[in-house]
Amino acid sequence: MNDFLRRIAGAAALLLALVTGPAVAQAVKPAPLTILISIDGFRADYLQRGVTPSIAALAAEGVRATAMHPSYPSLTFPNHYTLVTGLRPDRSGIVDNNMEDPRKPGVAFSMGKVDISHDPFWWDEAEPLWVTAEKAGVRTATMFWPGSDLPIHGVQPHDWKMYDKKFLADQRVDLVLAWLDRPPAERPRFVTLYFDEVDSAGHAAGPDSQEVNAALARTDAAVGRLVAGLKAKGLFAEADLVIVADHGMAATAPERVTYLDDLLPADGWHAVSMGSEATIRPMPGHEEEVAEALLAPHPHMTCWRKADVPVRFHYGKNPRVPPFVCLGQTGWLIESHASVIGHPVGRGAHGFDPYDPLMDALFVAHGPAFKTGAVQPAFDNVDIYPLLAALIGVADRPNDGRLADLTSSLAQ
Ligand code: AMP
Ligand code: ZN
Ligand code: ZN
Repeated sequence: MNDFLRRIAGAAALLLALVTGPAVAQAVKPAPLTILISIDGFRADYLQRGVTPSIAALAAEGVRATAMHPSYPSLTFPNHYTLVTGLRPDRSGIVDNNMEDPRKPGVAFSMGKVDISHDPFWWDEAEPLWVTAEKAGVRTATMFWPGSDLPIHGVQPHDWKMYDKKFLADQRVDLVLAWLDRPPAERPRFVTLYFDEVDSAGHAAGPDSQEVNAALARTDAAVGRLVAGLKAKGLFAEADLVIVADHGMAATAPERVTYLDDLLPADGWHAVSMGSEATIRPMPGHEEEVAEALLAPHPHMTCWRKADVPVRFHYGKNPRVPPFVCLGQTGWLIESHASVIGHPVGRGAHGFDPYDPLMDALFVAHGPAFKTGAVQPAFDNVDIYPLLAALIGVADRPNDGRLADLTSSLAQ
């Protein structure tokens, strides 16, 4: 090899080392404190509304992404578990907010039914970062996060609190700050903090409402309270803050609904989930009829057999995914006449195509690991997990993410 070729080969090897995961992870210096904040339903473009000055200031001094794509389905539980496992919902086991498993006949998982949802059976297919961190001797604390209210692989965060929607945003911040008041050796090094108000307002009043703007302002004030508290303790400069959402929000309306019972034979099917997406199991003897009805073209809904779900959704291999998967056109819900009686159609929903800009989620990061004033191109939310693992200095488990996607954000 002549000198010129050798130099090119060396440069190529260096480039390769820079873009591969482990090399990037080695370049990230673990910080004494990493705080992962989730603002449920904070659509990426809400940041431009001018109603979230504290988060905007963190973005200006740190980084923000043009968009972070949720994983399919763009719902709360699957995406929160993806954020802390790096696994697409089809691989993490939390395939939907509402699930059934052939190994547990007659049992239906839903977010509100804690006697069922707190059974580790549903969560043990993956290992969230706080479990890996605790096993590695890194102390963790969760101020709410789906999966944190139960032991997974036998482990819970050192500090955690049972989910309580009525526990106010400021109370959540104050509890995190109280945990951080401990002597350094007893302080958590990885903390999660979850806010739900923006999502609730988005469902009730729609993404373009004053209600959402008011919820954004209140949640932003809670983030400001956290920043002020960290500054007062002298912890702000050394903390890495990663602020994300699980998905965006699209406007919905009672007149934009596809009714499954108008299409399917009575008593011939069972919907495991309904809403922006629906998952459907035909009843024995009705397989053909149900397939024919669902797989026919529909004006505002597309259905697939689970094996035929578009590849970009990475969905359909898990036994928990029922035989048919249907997705509403963004803004169009999939319901039954009975389901909307118990649960009236709201003004906003998510769960639609994760690559629709209306489903784009917030990503803002600030701290010693991040650039100042940088804008990160769009990426998939599976990348958050290897980022967090590098920030807290634990080895990431096999996952679907790539830290190299976030090199535009990283200071090194
Ligand atoms: P979604 O139906 O996907 O919009 O879910 C959002 C809702 O999930 C929020 O309004 C919360 O009340 C609920 N939620 C968030 N975290 C938890 C948790 N750890 N346990 C139970 N419910 C939760
Ligand atoms: Zn959500
Ligand atoms: Zn929601």
